[in-house]
Amino acid sequence: MAGEIWAIGEIADGQPTRLARELATLAAGLAAESGRTARAVLVGPDASTAAESLAANGPDVLAVDADPGDRPVAAVIAEQVAALARDRQPSFLFVGASNDGRDVAGMLQALLDWGALVNAAGVRWQDEAPQAEMSVFGGRLVTLSHLAADHGIVIVRPSSVTAEEAARPGKVAAIAPAAVDPLPAVRIVERIAEASAAVSIEEAPVIVAGGRGVGGPEGFAVVQELAEVLGGVVGATRAVVDAGWIGYAHQIGQTGKTVKPALYVAAGISGAIQHKVGMQTSGTIIAINRDPDAPIGEFADLMVIGDLFEILPRVSAGVRARRGG
Ligand SMILES: Cc1cc2nc3c(=O)[nH]c(=O)nc-3n(C[C@H](O)[C@H](O)[C@H](O)COP(=O)(O)OP(=O)(O)OC[C@H]3O[C@@H](n4cnc5c(N)ncnc54)[C@H](O)[C@@H]3O)c2cc1C
Repeated sequence: MAGEIWAIGEIADGQPTRLARELATLAAGLAAESGRTARAVLVGPDASTAAESLAANGPDVLAVDADPGDRPVAAVIAEQVAALARDRQPSFLFVGASNDGRDVAGMLQALLDWGALVNAAGVRWQDEAPQAEMSVFGGRLVTLSHLAADHGIVIVRPSSVTAEEAARPGKVAAIAPAAVDPLPAVRIVERIAEASAAVSIEEAPVIVAGGRGVGGPEGFAVVQELAEVLGGVVGATRAVVDAGWIGYAHQIGQTGKTVKPALYVAAGISGAIQHKVGMQTSGTIIAINRDPDAPIGEFADLMVIGDLFEILPRVSAGVRARRGG
């Protein structure tokens, strides 16, 4: 019998992440197309509660309540999912390309001895199997790949799919796999919060991003101000991250994060292909650039030609004035 399609989700603050919802939507869509069954799997101390919420995206959810304690969460997810997969023999596991998700996928590959397709920016169903779209050569080419076996893992980039609520929500089953092989015990001895870790760029509805045009670390003040006024977060290009003007957590693009906010304001950003691939599916893109020929003008919805240091403070002040404060 054709095996199931599983979406392996993650939990943050007791709720499924947006990426978990995207994977659940993707699995449900592929299952409908292929006549297979989709399931989502959540592992964590809050799995049952988070699963009730994730079920809104369609598939039935298997919730494994497991507390990682001082162990890396990815290891706990991987060993539980591997054990469940041995019990239930799904065909395809979809894992998110988040920091933990990539670790989970790598461990699952080793534990199950399965192959993986990495960095899928889109997935379609073809010849009884998932086919992954991958962006290569800095976004200049898109390849289509499939697994050589009739089972395997697909690692999906955030924002490759739009999470949708299903007409009929799935059901939740609390479950414990029969036999878990614990991975060699890596223990977390200390947690250090990075200042920028509060930034949840992938989930933000509004991003104001700065590029080399901000001129230096202090130039981000006007970017930060507008982000705060609009209730958004600060993004950045690789050029400014490499220059040490802002932390890597803010980097958007091929070697940074893929984002899909409703509004993306690009200030002093030229629009190189490697940046574009990380933000081109944003709802509305507004570019502020003093060069009318900057490539970002080719895909921005609105391009304001001028100096960002004049324009951004005026926009911030204008939005504040409209709100009466
Ligand atoms: C393998 C590889 C991976 C990469 N990965 C990434 C990635 O993940 N993300 C990424 O962003 N890049 C990535 N890059 C780098 C990418 O090619 C570009 O170099 C980078 O995006 C350029 O950043 P920028 O737009 O900030 O700078 P620039 O290209 O220098 O553009 C600065 C812009 O600011 C404008 N400007 C200057 N002053 C002002 C002002 N006062 N007001 C208004 N506008 C002004 C200029 O007109 C210009 O358009 C990668 C490159 C490679 C080779």
